[in-house]
Amino acid sequence: HLSLAVRTPRRSRTGHMTELSKILRRQIEATGPITLADYMSACLLHPKHGYYTTQDALGVDGDFTTAPEISQMFGELIGLCLAQSWMDQGAPDRFALVELGPGRGTLIADLLRATVQVPGFHAAVDLHLVEASARMRSLQAAALPAYHPTWHDTVETLPEDIPIFVMANEFFDALPIRQFQRDPKGWREIMVGLSETGVLKRGLSDAAPIEALNSRLDDTQPGALVETCAHGTAVVDALARRIATQGGMALFIDYGAWHSDGDTFQAVRAHRPVDPFAEPGQADLTAHVDFTALAKAAAEEGARVSPLRTQGDFLRGLGIEIRAQNLMKVASGSGAKQIESARDRLIGADGMGTLFKVLGLAGPMTPLLPGLEPA
Ligand code: SAH
Repeated sequence: HLSLAVRTPRRSRTGHMTELSKILRRQIEATGPITLADYMSACLLHPKHGYYTTQDALGVDGDFTTAPEISQMFGELIGLCLAQSWMDQGAPDRFALVELGPGRGTLIADLLRATVQVPGFHAAVDLHLVEASARMRSLQAAALPAYHPTWHDTVETLPEDIPIFVMANEFFDALPIRQFQRDPKGWREIMVGLSETGVLKRGLSDAAPIEALNSRLDDTQPGALVETCAHGTAVVDALARRIATQGGMALFIDYGAWHSDGDTFQAVRAHRPVDPFAEPGQADLTAHVDFTALAKAAAEEGARVSPLRTQGDFLRGLGIEIRAQNLMKVASGSGAKQIESARDRLIGADGMGTLFKVLGLAGPMTPLLPGLEPA
């Protein structure tokens, strides 16, 4: 997640840090160094001490801000994109509206509000949220008082008899990654172990030949660091397999590049970068999303894959400039300024507008999503 300037003082958070460090230390002492993926999973989702289990991560008072929290326009425009795709597919009379990692439920609430007028759309919606954290689930329930979502731990339990229309904003960046460093002979994995004084620290494994990295031998040099996210690829596999046969769509928005290249593992706390190993469970951990890996997984399952767009181009294509103008017309003086600055933050070339990328999936027989048509 994007780290932003500090706006509010950080609240004191003590008590959990020591517990999770102790747990990880004991585990490493007993069974040896763990992968970065295991470390990330424990820090984010440990049932008692994990970051998403214990912290109010999102928003001005939290550790990071996301696009739907910046402006209602984000969810509204995605709602219109989704409704258009639904109409393009013959307006199926029942479909699963799915969000992966809905955070505070802001995007889905804005999306539903923006689509109230689309004839038949709401009557067809069956709402499904994939969310690992119980704390986040309760925030989502509060944001959607008029709806009755079904929550899932994974995409594997989504209903199978209806098409899925899926969106995910800053979900894939929260999934655990592994890191590999190339040496003259092949790859070695970056592991989390203990220093002589018992402090968590990174080190290199013995040779770790992994098949998924064979293709990266062609475009990297010794010394290069690459990241893999098996969890993310598995999610896309499962969704794309269904979309390829049933129709529906998926929209993934996240920060990252066309390729994993270098160390992008980062920790953010109170809108500031911090050491990811200092206080496990107390900071948000993320890594850039490797969109090539996701696109490849989807194409292998037979889904249509859109070109990769920047968030700025995508939102401009959906009409954010007109939407902002209309909102500004009915807003008071400072309200209008806020709308203008939110728009600039979402699409600005020096920030989220280019750092964030958008990838869409559709069935082989259905049009690509609005805003993601080939240029
Ligand atoms: N989409 C929201 C929130 C992004 S934060 C927004 O844009 O504001 C990441 C979200 O994914 C949180 O809701 C977090 O609890 C959830 N999450 C993280 N890892 C997950 C996992 N492995 N499975 C399901 N949900 C997860």
